[in-house]
Amino acid sequence: MKITDVVLFRITGKWTGSEFPPGDRQARPLDVYPELDQGARVGTSDGVRTMRAIYVEIQTDAGVSGLFGPIQEAQAFVIRKSLRPFLIGRDPLANEALLDQMIRMDRHGRSGMFMTGVSPVDCALWDLKGKAWDLPVYRLLGGPTRERVPAYASMLGFSVDPEGAGQTALVYREKGFTAQKWFFRYGPADGDAGKAKNLAMARAVREAVGEDYTLMFDAFMGWDVSYAVAMVKALSPLNPAWMEEPVPPERIGALRKIREASDVPVATGEHVYTRWQAKELLVGGAVDVLQNDPDWTGGITELVKVCALASAFETPVVAHGHSLLPALHVAGAQPPVTVPRVEFLIRGQETKQFFHRPIYRPEQGAVALPDLPGLGLVLDEEKIDDRSDVVF
Ligand SMILES: [Mg+2]
Repeated sequence: MKITDVVLFRITGKWTGSEFPPGDRQARPLDVYPELDQGARVGTSDGVRTMRAIYVEIQTDAGVSGLFGPIQEAQAFVIRKSLRPFLIGRDPLANEALLDQMIRMDRHGRSGMFMTGVSPVDCALWDLKGKAWDLPVYRLLGGPTRERVPAYASMLGFSVDPEGAGQTALVYREKGFTAQKWFFRYGPADGDAGKAKNLAMARAVREAVGEDYTLMFDAFMGWDVSYAVAMVKALSPLNPAWMEEPVPPERIGALRKIREASDVPVATGEHVYTRWQAKELLVGGAVDVLQNDPDWTGGITELVKVCALASAFETPVVAHGHSLLPALHVAGAQPPVTVPRVEFLIRGQETKQFFHRPIYRPEQGAVALPDLPGLGLVLDEEKIDDRSDVVF
């Protein structure tokens, strides 16, 4: 079997609104520049608007193909300009070889934007292999280790007003989610008043869900060390399961300091690429929970290696949930101790899976493993108004 083309296409459709009211964004690294504040509210609940999404399809001379998306335009650029010419004519089933070659082919290839182009190609190659062999990806990876994988409710974009956050947290506990993650809106630029608001939200959410409920928090790299140390000390009585990305992930000494400042576990990894960067966090004593995202870290192939590495450090992997399916298949093939759960972005998955059929959602706090061949990603033709090639 040979790859005949790597096609990038954009589809559009009509979004008819969301059930969710506008909410708050999370803290961001750029917030230290108040003039670059990108607005306080996110999401919309009214009006028809156009949805756009880019997908990559790897086609072969055997008729079988592999699909993955949605991806960002910058990822599509890397695929179109650097990876497509390399991939045409190669054996798509030799995905381990292809990943190693893609990592080696560019001087910046091991990290950053280049890896976010490599990763969707790896995911599409797994989809292709599953379709070629008529098996779901988790089976090719040695699963299932369970039929349903627990998913935590990731509450990005909801109001962080303490009363509203508490009410929402209770709603999602009652929907059957056994764990939730809430996002802090404020960072060092917001001073003591912002810190007090962060803590008020955290306390309200803890009070709403009860003492024994699994609760996590995320700062999206928006803090510095002294702010993070003060926050984890203040959060400790609330018994969080983890504090995520208090600072950027390459600051290993800073993460270790934050980890040692309290008993609150530290999570990071969604902006970490490949097993080698994950290794530095593990060896450096900088992380309690690793969160490499298969869409960015080097695909399903690389996430499996990260799981093996992390398991040797007794460190669980809870992949970042940019898209659900690759992380779900890996989770379904890993021991529950190594990958206890996946992330489900309550609001984000609405748009990420907009063009898909079926749409995968947790029920009673867990997602069933797909039984379709490959990733189980199928486009819903009824939602697609227009399709065009993405060319740079
Ligand atoms: Mg995060």
